[in-house]
Amino acid sequence: MKSITTDVIVVAAGLSGLAACIAAAENGAKVTVFEKSNTTGGAANMGMGPLGVGSPIQREHMVALTPGEAFRKHMYYTHYRVDARMVRDYYFKSGDTIEWLMDMGVEFAGVQRAFSAPEATRAYSDGEFTWHVVKPEGGGAPGPRCATAMTKKMTEKARELGVEFLMETPVNKIIMEDGKAVGVLAKDKDGEEIEARAKSVILATGGFGDNPKMIQEQTGYEFGKTIFNFAIPGMKGDGINMAWEAGAGRTECTMELMYQLPDNMNHFILDGAFRQPSLWVNRNGDRFMPEDQIANTTFTGNAITAQPGSVAYAIFDSKLLKKYKKRGPDIVSHVHPHDLFDHFDEQWEKDLAEGYEPICQADTIEELAEKAGIDVEGLVKQVEEYNDMCDAGFDELFEKDRAYMQNIEKGPFYCCRQNVGAYGSLGGVLINHKTQVMNQEAKVIPGLYCVGTDACNIFGDSYPFILSGNTMGFCLNSGRIAGENAAEEAVEF
Ligand SMILES: Cc1cc2nc3c(=O)[nH]c(=O)nc-3n(C[C@H](O)[C@H](O)[C@H](O)COP(=O)(O)OP(=O)(O)OC[C@H]3O[C@@H](n4cnc5c(N)ncnc54)[C@H](O)[C@@H]3O)c2cc1C
Repeated sequence: MKSITTDVIVVAAGLSGLAACIAAAENGAKVTVFEKSNTTGGAANMGMGPLGVGSPIQREHMVALTPGEAFRKHMYYTHYRVDARMVRDYYFKSGDTIEWLMDMGVEFAGVQRAFSAPEATRAYSDGEFTWHVVKPEGGGAPGPRCATAMTKKMTEKARELGVEFLMETPVNKIIMEDGKAVGVLAKDKDGEEIEARAKSVILATGGFGDNPKMIQEQTGYEFGKTIFNFAIPGMKGDGINMAWEAGAGRTECTMELMYQLPDNMNHFILDGAFRQPSLWVNRNGDRFMPEDQIANTTFTGNAITAQPGSVAYAIFDSKLLKKYKKRGPDIVSHVHPHDLFDHFDEQWEKDLAEGYEPICQADTIEELAEKAGIDVEGLVKQVEEYNDMCDAGFDELFEKDRAYMQNIEKGPFYCCRQNVGAYGSLGGVLINHKTQVMNQEAKVIPGLYCVGTDACNIFGDSYPFILSGNTMGFCLNSGRIAGENAAEEAVEF
């Protein structure tokens, strides 16, 4: 067995681990990072950017939101069911964290709401300009994976500060002595065991999105049946389980809900094309939410969860498709390509021919319902009612924005089943606002910190879409807080 001694051990080099190791090293600690995979950045490499409030970019664009206002909004949204001290510290640090990243060379394309909506629906769906979208490496329009440019710069910075990275070396146990965390056990890619000792251990292993058993036990969803979340390889819940084994308190775990098509990255054009405020129904053929809200992926994920079989169906007709092709989509996504309807036919024909199961096309509503597995009578009745309301120009059921009251009448008709999805899991390990791990009685376990999604228990039951970029925002800021506190302890030791 190999032995290592250091000041601070960071378990994982994902987003929160990178923030933690940089902050600890900047504050004078000798830092060793253990990473299971062969790359740094974790799930953040899939995304677009973090939240910040009060950043230089916001000031430049005259975005007036203050950290105090963001704190109030967040607490109102979560009904004060979460740790106000943690939320407060996070928002008040978040603007400075954007500046911290910029000093490392991270460039941002700008600051964004999660999506734009017309004035009429803004009150429900729109958020604040908090999402700092990372400028993609090599230029071009920002899109999925552009945040890789940020994690690369962070990795460079950490290396510059002398942080040691042990790649492909997963940690499997926290060493506890007299109730204190004093190190970890790991195994490198050649199978050699490592015992590492340190003054503090920071856990940052990214939750359990790739662990169907844990998803079911902790949240009740069945992977591949009732949820089709991103399962980033390696996110098995390691840090959470190790912390629980070491005596950490437990928090409620949730999934960071959204909605998506199964295997959506390979069907991305359709994933985006059907995110329109057309006609959305459940398995009985009934509408279940005002479709002008479907761009709020959290709300829609929640609403689909509540439907029979936790599925929904988005439907449009050939008249609407023609309009989308000519004038572009009603709701422009910031994640999907803006010209997606230019590529719709090609992807649709290919996916239909290959039997991609969530989609179907038919010349009549009856046939469409049968093919999709929607109650035929229910859908026929709903379409009739809906078309009557479109003719009258008013949605009597949900008061959907009248601009989107567009009849479903001209075949062929297009349908795409929508499933509950998620970016990953949230929560598990009980921490305080300093990110110190606590036991179930809220007593600090000395030497042990937990950050990022393993400990993210500040959203209550739903991701706060109104303050977007919040998961990366929490990961970066909790990581930074842990790194600073762990270094302070290590230096005082
Ligand atoms: C498609 C997609 C898009 C997203 N877009 C955004 C966005 O634009 N804005 C936003 O705010 N959020 C976004 N998110 C969410 C955000 O990326 C994650 O919440 C964030 O990266 C989580 O950070 P983390 O540090 O907790 O974990 P991660 O960044 O996922 O890192 C976890 C790391 O732990 C390692 N690991 C696991 N087990 C061990 C072990 N035993 N030992 C050592 N290492 C281990 C893993 O290999 C990984 O590197 C997105 C997520 C996805 C999937």
